[in-house]
Amino acid sequence: MCCRRSEGVVYKRCTHYVPISFHDKRDCGNRYCTFSAAHPRSCKNCNCEIHWYPDYKQDTVGYREGACSGCFQYFAGRPVINAQ
Ligand SMILES: [Zn+2]
Ligand SMILES: [Zn+2]
Ligand SMILES: [Zn+2]
Repeated sequence: MCCRRSEGVVYKRCTHYVPISFHDKRDCGNRYCTFSAAHPRSCKNCNCEIHWYPDYKQDTVGYREGACSGCFQYFAGRPVINAQ
């Protein structure tokens, strides 16, 4: 399966990395992987791989205040607790 290098931001409150763009695809050359150049465009009844491999590199390009969208609900209404 193909994988990519991502660039993303880290949310300060939950410390999660959230990718915002992807670069430098590494092609796996597998014809059963929909992301590969080897995958036929007119693949019949395509049940091929539709998931990326984890990013081989994650570059943090910035930081954001607050929590990511996945944690926003969890943190909403909770007081900010300083790490002890
Ligand atoms: Zn692939
Ligand atoms: Zn296919
Ligand atoms: Zn989060």
